[in-house]
Amino acid sequence: MRQDQEDPYQRRSAQVYPAADRAGSGSVASPRAVLYDAVLLDRDGTLIEDVPYNGDPEKVRPVPGARAALDRLRAAGLRLAVVTNQSGLARGYFTGEQMRAVHARVEELLGRFDAWLVCRHDDADGCDCRKPAPGLVYAAARELGTTPSRCVLVGDIGRDVGAAMAAGAAGVLVPTPMTRPEEVAAAGWVATDLPAAVAEILRRQQAVQPSTPPTEPVRTALVVRSDSAGDVLVTGPAIRAVAAGAERVVLLCGPRGRAAADLLPGVDEIIEHPLPWIDPTPGPVDPEAMRSLSAQLGVVGADQAVVFTSFHQSALPLALLLRMAGIDRIAAISDDYPGSLLDIRHRVPVGVPEPERALSLAAAAGHRLPDGDEPVLRLRRDAVPPRPADLGDAGYVVLHPGSAASSRACPPEVATRIVGALADAGHRVLVTGGPDERAVTARVAAAGGTDLGGRTDLAGLAAIVADAGAVVVGNTGPAHLAAAAGVPVVSLFAPTVPFGQWGPYRVPTVRLGDAAAVCRDTRAASCPVPGHPCLSGVDPGDVVDALRTLAVSGGGGR
Ligand SMILES: [Zn+2]
Repeated sequence: MRQDQEDPYQRRSAQVYPAADRAGSGSVASPRAVLYDAVLLDRDGTLIEDVPYNGDPEKVRPVPGARAALDRLRAAGLRLAVVTNQSGLARGYFTGEQMRAVHARVEELLGRFDAWLVCRHDDADGCDCRKPAPGLVYAAARELGTTPSRCVLVGDIGRDVGAAMAAGAAGVLVPTPMTRPEEVAAAGWVATDLPAAVAEILRRQQAVQPSTPPTEPVRTALVVRSDSAGDVLVTGPAIRAVAAGAERVVLLCGPRGRAAADLLPGVDEIIEHPLPWIDPTPGPVDPEAMRSLSAQLGVVGADQAVVFTSFHQSALPLALLLRMAGIDRIAAISDDYPGSLLDIRHRVPVGVPEPERALSLAAAAGHRLPDGDEPVLRLRRDAVPPRPADLGDAGYVVLHPGSAASSRACPPEVATRIVGALADAGHRVLVTGGPDERAVTARVAAAGGTDLGGRTDLAGLAAIVADAGAVVVGNTGPAHLAAAAGVPVVSLFAPTVPFGQWGPYRVPTVRLGDAAAVCRDTRAASCPVPGHPCLSGVDPGDVVDALRTLAVSGGGGR
């Protein structure tokens, strides 16, 4: 066995942050690099028709197609659990014995489940298991011998999706006529019915596994991710997959993504060059610069190129340059007809999380994450400096109000009120931002936090984030740094791009903000609506509650 088969990134970086270990509750039963070990299912309205406070087995009616859908999951080796709120027990509407009879009837009709997790409490009890609290998801994952990030939960209301996300699991909403429109808007993954949810779970699971290994061994792979830091960070798992199948990995990135590229495990060399068809504020195309880039790419001597893009970007201009540089095997996602520019033209439905979208392209190019690696964001430990000693103990809350795109930034007056509310609740708050955001961070921190504006580069920020109890942040790079460190996120998510694609990946998260605001899906860089309504309405009290849901306590503890 080659040495690097034990640790595929050994020669590139000695250690990586154990993100999943920190986010999860126990050891991972399966070392296989798959997305999911288990599917958790809500009971009423999801598996069976919702009969309020039902204690009568005769009234159990499965939803259409439930048995066949569940059998598909079982056949694929996925473990199944039911996670259900049954406050009727607390209220005395039925007995535990009646509930067990109902569950026996459910299994008679739908087959065996590997675990049943029931919250017997009412909202007034303040327990940590009644959805949207994440307790049932943690308990189910533990009982099934896996971690929440390797679970996907299917439910019919916002409470179900909220519980899944707060535990770092995926959540699929299957709306019924009872589901509120704002719950549908806020969900990152929506399916029309239970069989459709199951089909998409299995499709995504399959999509990150190569159907065939590369036809020839890959000595040097050129991977490409232009654009900003967040884009580069979410491509990390796919780059690790390519690295596991190639002897050498060269990453082409843009200037705005360079600092993030330096943090990625699996990368041996970096070429930094702006691509005018990707940059949001591009300069004119300079023929000499393009000739120089093509020559530089030719020198790499790559025997395979994998070009990663967002769904609204084109890989084709670069594919042409790569062809002119003499690269024979090129893989990319392209809805546009690529002619002879691509050897592997991959296509992905909308709504898939960016890290999985990229992993599926890596799989189409013949690469998968090695066994033992998790499909989570990771950083090179040797690239992250020690945290400044003057910040005190770990467990503080990081609030990052800014964003490169102002449409995704938290309005300063809202951030100021959040800092005040967090301080009042006993949280220590560090306010972070880039050198050009100092005026905002100073103003926001004055409400009761510590101003770190302009004090950190991306690696320094990663160090500070890694020791946080939680990070409060919009849809911007630091959210992905938090995900990479397994640090819970309160996501103030402007809906300009889909939450299901760009939300914090596989890390406990609470989403706040108006998901149905008119900026939804506009991809606007600056807010098209006066007053930035998607985030200006965030109640600071909801941020305090979100931290409680995420089990982040005030006073510095976790
Ligand atoms: Zn409970």
